[in-house]
Amino acid sequence: MIEIHDLTKTYGRGADAVTVLDRVDFTVSAGEIFAVVGPSGAGKSTLAQCINLLERPTSGEVVVNGERLTDLDAKSLRVARRRIGTVFQSANLLSRRTAAQNVALPLEYLGVTTAQTKARVAELLDRVGLSPHADKYPHQLSGGQRQRVGIARALALRPSVLLSDEATSGLDPAATESFLDLLREVRDDLDLAVVFITHEMDTIVKIADRVGRLDHGRIAEQGAVVDLLLDP
Ligand code: ADP
Ligand code: ADP
Repeated sequence: MIEIHDLTKTYGRGADAVTVLDRVDFTVSAGEIFAVVGPSGAGKSTLAQCINLLERPTSGEVVVNGERLTDLDAKSLRVARRRIGTVFQSANLLSRRTAAQNVALPLEYLGVTTAQTKARVAELLDRVGLSPHADKYPHQLSGGQRQRVGIARALALRPSVLLSDEATSGLDPAATESFLDLLREVRDDLDLAVVFITHEMDTIVKIADRVGRLDHGRIAEQGAVVDLLLDP
């Protein structure tokens, strides 16, 4: 599970200070999909970067399976970050590497042996239904296929949290459906806590167990999808 406690991010100081996240607070259990929805400028990408620890919050905590990640030193943080896999907008694949080589990246950084990496990559590509496309380059894949590679790469180090940062933005409706199906499947199979960040209201309705509405850096309300989004 992942717990976000009182997460605040302020850029600048004094009179120029801008608070982009203001005491954001939510918990996502294993097996649950929690969506954060909000308009442009609400703070979604800043929140995503604080959750996957690419940005340091000004205050507040990110806790995964009881371990507080926000005050680790750089070395411990590198290890702890493995617990959170991220799927980015437009997949963010390296264009000069094949699907398989992209999925292998996190394993290579970790120094996993070539034989082990190969086996693990094959398993991951099979999981996302892309085994036949292992040796294709990103430009030879559809947008939906690239996002599947993104999921495979995010799962490479067996995270317990999957962060989806605007991952369906830019996908057509059919590719979005297929992405959401796969997300549900891996959530169920791997018992992941999923944080699904998007500006797309209609996608939330299809995927989220619970939703938090982000507005000017604050979670203005959170609860079941039906209560929040379908209220008149
Ligand atoms: P400091 O903590 O030293 O005051 P900031 O947190 O303000 O620095 O800035 C962090 C980074 O964000 C810097 O690289 C800065 O250039 C950049 N930055 C500052 N203001 C903005 C802005 N309004 N939009 C985008 N990036 C910004
Ligand atoms: P969203 O992803 O929901 O569009 P962002 O997290 O990108 O929202 O941005 C939220 C607000 O924070 C915006 O007003 C943006 O200008 C501001 N912001 C983002 N990064 C910085 C930064 N480095 N320094 C100052 N302000 C920033």
